[in-house]
Amino acid sequence: MIDKIKIGPIEYEVIELGCLEDHNNNPIYGAVDMGLCRMVLESFANHQWKAVSLLHEVVHVMLDQAGQEHDEKTINVLAHGIYGLIKYNPELVDWIGGDDQTAP
Ligand SMILES: [Zn+2]
Repeated sequence: MIDKIKIGPIEYEVIELGCLEDHNNNPIYGAVDMGLCRMVLESFANHQWKAVSLLHEVVHVMLDQAGQEHDEKTINVLAHGIYGLIKYNPELVDWIGGDDQTAP
C-alpha cells in the first residue's frame, strides 16, 4: 500500500482505517482531510476499490487546489477513468514516468 502521495506542491499521508463513515454514518471507502494532508482508505475494501477511492480523493484535492467547484458524480467519473487508463495502459505510465532526456 502506498503511504504518501504528492499532489501539486503538497504531500499527503495515506492511511487505512476500518469501518469508515461519512457525517451521516453512511459507509464510505475513502476521505481526505485537507488540513491534516491525510487521505484515509477503507481497510476492508479490495485493492481495486482502494485504488479507485484513492484516485477519487486525489481528484478532489486537484480540483480544490485549483479552486474549481465539483460534484461527486464528476469525481467518480474521473476516478474510474483514470484508474482504467493507468491499469490497462502500463506502457503509457512507463512513458510518462520516463526520462525526458532519452525520449525521442
Ligand atoms: Zn468524494
